[in-house]
Amino acid sequence: MSRVLYQAENQITNGYKSSHPAVDLVKKKNETDTIIAHTGGIVTIAKTGVPHDPGSTGNRSYGNFVKIKHDNGYYTLYAHLKDVYVKKDQRVNTGEKIGYMGETGNAYGAHLHFEVRNPSDRRIDPTPYLDANLPDGTITYFYQSYDNVKKKWLPNVAIGSNEYAGNFKNSMGGIYVDKYKIRVHDKTKGYWLPWVENRNDYAGNLGNEIDGVQIENATYRVHLKNGTWLPWVSKTDDTKDGYAGIYGKTIDAIQIK
Ligand SMILES: [Zn+2]
Repeated sequence: MSRVLYQAENQITNGYKSSHPAVDLVKKKNETDTIIAHTGGIVTIAKTGVPHDPGSTGNRSYGNFVKIKHDNGYYTLYAHLKDVYVKKDQRVNTGEKIGYMGETGNAYGAHLHFEVRNPSDRRIDPTPYLDANLPDGTITYFYQSYDNVKKKWLPNVAIGSNEYAGNFKNSMGGIYVDKYKIRVHDKTKGYWLPWVENRNDYAGNLGNEIDGVQIENATYRVHLKNGTWLPWVSKTDDTKDGYAGIYGKTIDAIQIK
């Protein structure tokens, strides 16, 4: 069963993975089909006029696509459409026809590229929702850190969970937070880097070490390399500009409540 193809049949041709945070669908036996809205909502993007352009990147890689914001804050996105039947700001109902499967943008053969995004606009695995309702809208925000030794971003950690971001004994070169404004003190350069707004960018200079973190309206703590966790910092109940860290001491992990 499918809630995104009109004839309620679908076959996954390319599944969800970190390099492809979506599922690609065709109708059974590689046939095309009309695309329907998984759930009702408001059309936030209805892109048309994009040609078939294999290898294109960025937004052009989607080709013609529709993005819908649902009442619970989640989004669904339908890409590579041949035809788009809806307009921006239009309200659509669950199951309403919104377009037709195609291969516009960066597509090799006609298929639907289907994404589900959480309320902070991050792509989550759509597979459980192909034949089910979206989550109830409880918002989970995430953060992640960049490991200077492994030279890569570590997995997402949910804000408020018991987990932390980082690897003890390594150092972090960047922190990304979904929800809060953040800035870090670059240990190598010896000064605070500019504030970064939620989910637009990360704080840090990848490869440089961090020895101070400040997050607006959050409660958080940092772990020192070859040391321990420093006390929790909550800027809102601190009369000064509280920050977590000790200048000159490398931070290797962070936890955000
Ligand atoms: Zn895809």
